[in-house]
Amino acid sequence: MTSRVDVVVVGGGQAGLAAGYHLRRLGLDFVVLDAEATPGGAWQHTWDSLHLFSPAAYSSLPGRLMPTQRGQTYPDAGHVVEYLAEYEKRYELPVQRGVHVHAVRRDGDRVRVESDSGTWQARAVISATGTWSRPFLPAVPGQDIFAGRQLHTVDYRRPADFAGQRVIVVGGGNSGAQIAADLALDRVHLTWVTQRPPRFLADDIDGRALFDVATARRRALDEGRSDTGGVASLGDIVAVPPVRAARDAGLPAAKPMFTRFTTTGVQWADGSGVLADAIIWCTGFRPALSYLAPLRLRGQRGHIATDGTRAVDEPRLHLLGYGDWTGPASATLIGVGRPARDAARAISQLLAEEAKRVR
Ligand code: FAD
Repeated sequence: MTSRVDVVVVGGGQAGLAAGYHLRRLGLDFVVLDAEATPGGAWQHTWDSLHLFSPAAYSSLPGRLMPTQRGQTYPDAGHVVEYLAEYEKRYELPVQRGVHVHAVRRDGDRVRVESDSGTWQARAVISATGTWSRPFLPAVPGQDIFAGRQLHTVDYRRPADFAGQRVIVVGGGNSGAQIAADLALDRVHLTWVTQRPPRFLADDIDGRALFDVATARRRALDEGRSDTGGVASLGDIVAVPPVRAARDAGLPAAKPMFTRFTTTGVQWADGSGVLADAIIWCTGFRPALSYLAPLRLRGQRGHIATDGTRAVDEPRLHLLGYGDWTGPASATLIGVGRPARDAARAISQLLAEEAKRVR
């Protein structure tokens, strides 16, 4: 079955909903296709103890402040899921769930969006598929001989799953620090490994300050002033309360990256090693863009070249929410609103120009 619509948004997490909010305001005819069975995007799958690194009011999508969560300055992931579910209902966003899009192709003056539940012909597409479904694991010699378990951030749920085990957490970003803290506080036998010494942000800096810094940087660059350095200059790890508690209670000092696996653990270049039952790779993600392959849009590091959110070589495609390359802080709740608005406006303008040409 083929349906016709002006805009297809692929992905119904926070980025897809923010896009839907602005498309609705502009009166466009659109549908949001989401592979998940229920609302909430990646927030449905995070570990039990995950809390946001910003207070609720600083974690809001356009139009609707996130309510505070009782007793919590930093809401948990369940609260975000409830907020997103309520958000799409409130704005009556046309989300179709359980729809996995596997290809987008050019089709004359339209774009064809192919899914396991039918095909849509659209004038424009917004890709908002996030990164959660594309975990990244670096290659390390001997990986295939290691007899223990190897997991990624996406697989981790709670320390009880590792009771009595020797666990290595790899990663010096927020996920690595939070999962290491979670395990350390539960007295799992933990080794924490980071590529460079962990850089904690000052205790009074949270996501609010990070957003302000990212915005100031974008403004400086837009106005032709020198680069202010962005959030990376402040540190890598937000010292959210559980991380602070673990750090102060003796989170083990991070070791540098090991150089190889053995059958029972890992080894460093100097020959020292540790035994491990499990390795948890907190080594990041890549954008989930493989379904766009038929468009043959080239970029660097798995990205597609963009001007703002618009794909440079396909003006009918916008990319939203993947990180700074698709808008400053666009991979955060508070940061995705502005690029979502810009994408919706650009598409509205494109459709208006197209309509003028046809008349
Ligand atoms: P997602 O939430 O991943 O949503 C994408 C949706 O698209 C999913 O529902 C997916 O099923 C669907 N999809 C994917 N591919 C297809 C396809 N081919 N067809 C159909 N549907 C598809 N941000 C903050 O603002 N504050 C925080 O404190 C914070 N903490 C974070 C902690 C962790 C551990 C991580 C990983 C991220 C954190 N973020 C935080 C960043 C960010 O807010 C989340 O990553 C967020 O989930 C990104 O939203 P999204 O809509 O872009 O992607």
